[in-house]
Amino acid sequence: MIATGASARKLTCPGSEHALVLRNLEDFLVLRSLLIPKKHLILIGAGFIELELAAEARMAGCRVTVLEAASRVLGRAVPAEVAGVIANEHQQQGVEIICNVQLEHIHLLGDGYVVQLAEDKSIQGDFVVAGIGAIPEIALAEAAGLQTENGISVDSFMQTSDPNIYAAGDCCSFPHPLYGRQRMRLEMWRCAREQAECAVQNMIDTPQELSTVPWFWSDQFELGLQVAGLPQLAKQIISRVRADGVTIYFGLSDGGQLVSAAGVGVGNSVAKDIRLAEILIASRKQLNPGDLANPNLNLKKLLKN
Ligand SMILES: Cc1cc2nc3c(=O)[nH]c(=O)nc-3n(C[C@H](O)[C@H](O)[C@H](O)COP(=O)(O)OP(=O)(O)OC[C@H]3O[C@@H](n4cnc5c(N)ncnc54)[C@H](O)[C@@H]3O)c2cc1C
Repeated sequence: MIATGASARKLTCPGSEHALVLRNLEDFLVLRSLLIPKKHLILIGAGFIELELAAEARMAGCRVTVLEAASRVLGRAVPAEVAGVIANEHQQQGVEIICNVQLEHIHLLGDGYVVQLAEDKSIQGDFVVAGIGAIPEIALAEAAGLQTENGISVDSFMQTSDPNIYAAGDCCSFPHPLYGRQRMRLEMWRCAREQAECAVQNMIDTPQELSTVPWFWSDQFELGLQVAGLPQLAKQIISRVRADGVTIYFGLSDGGQLVSAAGVGVGNSVAKDIRLAEILIASRKQLNPGDLANPNLNLKKLLKN
């Protein structure tokens, strides 16, 4: 079994060696020692991990600036509306978010650093952290002559091109049976666990495919975000505005099947709806958009229809 995970994608601009990363315990211990009140953290990239770090730094009393190359935070992993709620919470809490930036270089200045951007703009801070994605660790697999494609290629049984070698987690991509066998690499904690369980099951017992619904969570300040399925595959977004003000965003395919559900609310408040949505996604049922949008219709009823 190969479960070598992924490592931080490195910046390529001049001075990139000045940027720290957050991937493992050692990185965390270094960063934690730097989260001192009034210190200015410059974060490059506005993905989940970086925004979680931004929230932690802000709660520790740091000044925080987030620089993002795209036009909004969190990319395509969540619907724009959910990204907006998260960005708004960060701004309310004093995090400065600057989108559409073009990074030119990073250089030392006194005890701190300057991040130079295009159009003569620059940001000065005490330390810089880059979070621009992860690349799968495939060196061991390549040395073993295994096939790779966006990570170690496995089939839906987690078997690599060598039938005696399996792979699981962030290091591998697999053809997901729920999504037309599109090959995907999911950097999600629960998925890594399910893939490992599936691989072990298949090593010792009757082979079974992995077709569980992708799911992940992220905690940002007081807010808990949960996403089931793949929002980037949705052709139509249906909003379900609950009585408590929380909105759940459902993504439907062209055929009217649920492909994703995302919600953000205080603590664990979206968990129940997202759990039910997960079961609906797995069922591949055709659903009526009006039913999904109706907060008075219990989602459990849709499971029975
Ligand atoms: C900071 C951070 C926050 C995250 N937050 C969330 C979250 O909120 N929700 C969520 O769903 N997911 C989250 N994730 C993603 C989640 O942690 C990963 O999807 C999951 O850990 C992947 O598990 P894995 O076993 O594939 O890889 P890893 O947990 O990365 O483990 C791989 C291990 O293999 C070791 N290794 C690598 N190469 C070799 C080798 N040649 N020989 C021996 N050992 C080797 C590595 O050192 C590492 O210990 C987060 C990730 C990070 C970095």
